[in-house]
Formats: sequence, structure tokens, C-alpha cells
Amino acid sequence: MLIVFFLFRIINSKQKTIQVKEEPEIVIKKEYGIVVNNYDFQKLKIQSGETFSDIFDRYRISPIMVDKIQRYIVNNDIFDFRNIRAGNNYAVFSTKDSLSRGEIFIYEINYVDYILFDFRDSLNISLMQKEVETKNKYCSGVVETSLWASIVDSSNLSPALLMKMSEIYAWTIDFFRLEKGDKYKIFFEEKFVEGESIGVGKVMAALYQHKGNQFYAFNFQINENYDDYFDQNGKSLRRAFLRAPLSYSYRISSKFQKRRLHPVTGKIKPHLGTDYAAPQGTPIIATANGKVIKSSYTKNNGYYVKIRHNSTYTTQYLHMLKRGRASEGSYVKQGDVIGYVGQTGLATGPHVCYRFWKNGRQVDPYKQKLPEAEPISKDYIDDFKIIADSLYNILDKI
Ligand SMILES: [Zn+2]
Repeated sequence: MLIVFFLFRIINSKQKTIQVKEEPEIVIKKEYGIVVNNYDFQKLKIQSGETFSDIFDRYRISPIMVDKIQRYIVNNDIFDFRNIRAGNNYAVFSTKDSLSRGEIFIYEINYVDYILFDFRDSLNISLMQKEVETKNKYCSGVVETSLWASIVDSSNLSPALLMKMSEIYAWTIDFFRLEKGDKYKIFFEEKFVEGESIGVGKVMAALYQHKGNQFYAFNFQINENYDDYFDQNGKSLRRAFLRAPLSYSYRISSKFQKRRLHPVTGKIKPHLGTDYAAPQGTPIIATANGKVIKSSYTKNNGYYVKIRHNSTYTTQYLHMLKRGRASEGSYVKQGDVIGYVGQTGLATGPHVCYRFWKNGRQVDPYKQKLPEAEPISKDYIDDFKIIADSLYNILDKI
């Protein structure tokens, strides 16, 4: 018994010495690049109705100081205090004493940008940015439905990536008339902050197989501020015209046709436009650059806008809402919002009737060979070929 007790003592004392050795080291913890060890650190969300004054006041920043901050921010054009948003993150580094006075405040404007208010020495306010990490991602799939919008539900693609795809291919593929069995491969960037995804970055390359045709899109940086998508031969994916006056739609409700039974009048008449049904208020966009030559109302057209693009082409957009229409005489760029889907005039539901004139005659834009945008210039074609080759190999392996 005594021996057992003695053994126990030895083991026990051994454990003790081990414990001494394992005394935890002081771990330096940082938040927003600042050592938090000496502070009470709190990360919170802005409540509805909360102001910066409320927050500063809670952490014992004097009203005089708050006033100073406001003036500093306005004078240095850092941030408008009125733009504080409920639900955004903010953080406070306050003293560990009973006063709990705020020494450093952080307000996150978005996932990346934040404002740092530092009261430690003199007041110091700076606009900071978190480090954004970009990772390469790949995905591929088969289209199971003809509705682009419902692909979101049936695939692992994010709505943001779908939007990018429909923008890249806006001129070549009619995303309102997809075929079941179409295939796609996408090589893209995803952006991360502190290990969490903040969204899709640039699509670097894509392949869309539609009705046996392969449509490649390779991103190419032409200069510091401008990049665009080209096919394997360096031809631009852009056309002078967008395929549709909506960047997102649910269906074409009536095509261009010579004989149509009119849904309202019941008479057989040609329908010299293409109808896109979409919810009331959906933005309508100009399909090409041009001058608004008419922004007006008639009994049949309802509120409408007519754009002259050049001496050959004119387009018209009918049944708009009254509000938000482009004004007569203004110049619009391709993709600019020129009005909103309504059902003014002779219409059974909210839609935009898109009409297209070539040399003064109304034609079906989908049957036209529309002019292409500029290809890659000779100066860059060799650079482009090298990049396109490597992107092609990446797509090939997906
Ligand atoms: Zn129509």
C-alpha cells in the first residue's frame, strides 16, 4: 500500500513538472491588422436606425469629437455618414477598464472596404481595404431546361455567374431559346476575403455548345482599363447590336411574323416585332448606341422610345411604363436603360415589343446578319494567340 502511494506521488509530481513546461505562450491575436490582446474587442452589426453618433456615444466618445469626425470625413471625402447601412459589420476596440472607452472603431462599408477610426493619439481616420484573394475555379454542365433562369436551380452555377455568361454571349447565343442538351464549360475567378467567398470575379474563358456549334469566349486584356471577349480567331463576341432589349427575360411571347391573330383586336395582322414578356418594371436596354429620335405615346404603342443607330438601323421599344424613359434627343449607349416594361397601349400583359428597321423596312433582327464589332488588332494578335491557346487547354481539361 505504501509503495502504491509512493508511485502515485512520483507520477503526480511528474505531471506537475510537465504542466509547468506547458505554460501557454502569449498568443498575439490580430483583427483588422491590429493587436487585440490589450482591448475588449467586439464585432457587431449595425441595427436598424442606428447612427454613428449612437455608437460613438455608447463608447464614451464626446459629442465634440463626433462633430470633429463628421467634419473631417466630409472635408476629406471619405464617406457620407448618412450612408450607414443596417446589417453591416462594425467593430470596437475598447479599453479593458471600467470606463470601456472606444479607442479604435471599424465600419465595414462592404466586404472589402472599411473605415478605421483611431483615437489612440490624435484622431486618425483612414479608408482601408481587406486583402482580396483570387482563386481559379472551373465548372461545366449540361442544360436541362430551355429557361436560362431556371438553370440556377438545376445546377451549381451562381446567379452572378449566369449573368456574366449571358453578358459574354449576349450577341451570339439567344439565352431565351436555349436547347435542352446544350453544354458549357467555364473557367473563372472567385474572390475571397478572410477565407470566405465574396463573389465571382472575371470569367477568363468559356465554351458554350449550342446545336452542335462550339462558341468559345476568351478574355483578353487590351489595355489597362479595357478587356473583352474574343473567339479562337480573335474575332470579337460583340456585335453592333444586342440580341434582346432585356438583359434578363422569361420568354419570347410572340415572334416576328407576317400573319398573326392579334390577341386584343382578334384581327389577322402582321406582327412586325418581337415580344418579350417580363415582369412590369424590368429595365429595357438600348440594343445599340444611338440617338433617341422619339420618346412618346400613341394609343396602340403606349409609351415608347425609338432610337436611330445610324443611316441603316433604327429600333423601337413599345408598351413601356411612363416613368424612366430616355428623353427625346438624348444619346444612349448599348446596354443603357431606356425605360421599363409596362403594358401601356394595346397589350394584354406586361411586355416589350421590340421593333427593328433596316433601311426603312421592318425586319426580324434574328434573321439579319448584324455587323460585328472590331476584331483584335494586328498589333495584339500574337499575344492573344498565346493566351487563347493556354485558356483553350484549360477548358479542354475541365
Ligand atoms: Zn409586339
